[in-house]
Amino acid sequence: MDWVLKTRKHALAPKPLFLEMPESLNIDIPIYPPSARFEVDARLGEVEFACDLSICKGACCTMPGGRGAPVLKAEISELERAFPIVSKYLPEKALEAIAEQGIWRNEIDGTFTISTIGRRECIFVHWENDIAFCSIQTAFRKGEIQGFEKPISCHLFPIRIYPERKKDTFFICYEEIDECEGGRVNGKKVHMPLLEFLRSPLARALGKERTELLIQSFKEEPPAA
Ligand code: SF4
Repeated sequence: MDWVLKTRKHALAPKPLFLEMPESLNIDIPIYPPSARFEVDARLGEVEFACDLSICKGACCTMPGGRGAPVLKAEISELERAFPIVSKYLPEKALEAIAEQGIWRNEIDGTFTISTIGRRECIFVHWENDIAFCSIQTAFRKGEIQGFEKPISCHLFPIRIYPERKKDTFFICYEEIDECEGGRVNGKKVHMPLLEFLRSPLARALGKERTELLIQSFKEEPPAA
């Protein structure tokens, strides 16, 4: 297997949230090619996690702070394909924001993000009672969209994959934020390892074989405390 597993502690890093990908109308799966090499946050094997929307209310889709969710260049065409299908779910304020800003933004550092309403709520959010849901994922689960469940950065959260300085090398890490406290409490309650909970998006990103290797590597050799 041509990849490297290392473990190290990770603090939130001000690195770009974007992996530059070749221009494409379709997203290759796995997203990270076989030649990619990975370093791995030790906490991936320690954290138990299972989202509890009744507690967090879908906070990761409505995070204040300016930038919207990071997206791959290759995902932009998927967002544009999804918008006419999901627009029926979106609130008026989202449609107004899209009319003003468009669906996505090219940031000053060359990365791409999804537009937001008031530098907070993702323009693809729809609400059920007081809980924020991704309208793309809603449409995907209803069979209205095929082949694209949601952007991979959203699908993987609270796991992030950052490019490292070394070419073709990436760091897979756990991002611990206050908003996910309900997910941590629920994960402990139901004994759900983070990597198991996110097995499906990990397989999109890494492929099934590398995902299994990642999960097994922690089972065989738990990281030192
Ligand atoms: S990732 Fe965190 S904020 Fe987002 S739905 Fe899960 S627990 Fe809630």
